[in-house]
Amino acid sequence: MTEPPISASYCHCTRCQRRTGTAASAQARIVPGSLRVTAGEELVRAYEPEDGFPKAFCSACGSALWSIRPDTSEVSGVRMSAFDQDPGVRPSYRQFVAYAAEWEPIPDDGLPRYPEGAPPQGSR
Ligand SMILES: [Zn+2]
Repeated sequence: MTEPPISASYCHCTRCQRRTGTAASAQARIVPGSLRVTAGEELVRAYEPEDGFPKAFCSACGSALWSIRPDTSEVSGVRMSAFDQDPGVRPSYRQFVAYAAEWEPIPDDGLPRYPEGAPPQGSR
């Protein structure tokens, strides 16, 4: 990555639960165009839901990598687990909490919670 991530958040939607096997997916928003794959690009595959952004993952190990904006083909949300080092940002809100897993309470961490998608995070 050529620039540090901008921000991070948790998504509690059902799709994120299923694709991660967890109660929520942590992901970082990045500067458009700041990520470049330097090795193993041939292993990157995408799950392309009809009603959402394609989700890239590693076909060798199954790791979740990032989502892709269909309009620009740019990488948008990079999964926090994909960073080798501390990405420097911390999740600052939780979205789609209306669909949160019954089996794991949302942590009482004081982060803003949005029942559906978070409003645009302009100045955050
Ligand atoms: Zn989600």
